[in-house]
Amino acid sequence: MLHPDYRYCPNCASLLAVSAIAGRERKACPACGFTHWNNPAPVVAGLVQLGDQILLARNAAWPPKTFALITGFLEAGETPEEGIAREVKEETNLDVERASLIGVYEFTRKNELIVAYHVMASGSVRLSEELVEYRMVAPERLRPWRAGTGLAVADWMRARNLPFEFVDLPLRPQPQQHDS
Ligand SMILES: [Zn+2]
Repeated sequence: MLHPDYRYCPNCASLLAVSAIAGRERKACPACGFTHWNNPAPVVAGLVQLGDQILLARNAAWPPKTFALITGFLEAGETPEEGIAREVKEETNLDVERASLIGVYEFTRKNELIVAYHVMASGSVRLSEELVEYRMVAPERLRPWRAGTGLAVADWMRARNLPFEFVDLPLRPQPQQHDS
C-alpha cells in the first residue's frame, strides 16, 4: 500500500515517482535515489490489568461505548517494553510493574504492526486528553473483535481458558438498554 500523502522526497524535496522496486510499486526519488519503502509502523498495545480487572479506554475520536486497549506508536530508541510502559503512563497515569508479550499482530488496514502486551499496572488512573473515559472489566467479560488488538485479547483469553465470543466492533460493555 502506498502512502497517499507522501509526495516529496524527504532528502531533497523532489517529487517522488512511482516505480517497480524489489517486486512492488514504490515511491522513489528520481533525483537522489531515496526509496519510500512504506514499511508498517510498529505500535505497542497494552491489555492493562489493575488489580483483578482490565482497563479499557475510549479514545476521543471513537463512537460512544467503544472501548479498547491502550495503544501508541513505538518511539525511536526505546524497546517495546519501554514503549508500552511510556504509553500506559502517558495515557492512564498508571505505572507498569510487569509487561509480558501476548503476541505480534498485523494491522494492514493502517499499515501498522501491533506488538501487544499484558501489563500489570499500579497507581491511580488519570486519563490523558486523548482518552475520554475508561471502564474496568473483569477478564471473563472481555469481548474480543476480529482485527488488530482484538486478536490479542482473544489470544490472551484463550491462554487463560476463558471462554469468549467475538464481536463485530471493539469492546462494548453489555448494554443495559437498547441504543438507537
Ligand atoms: Zn531525493
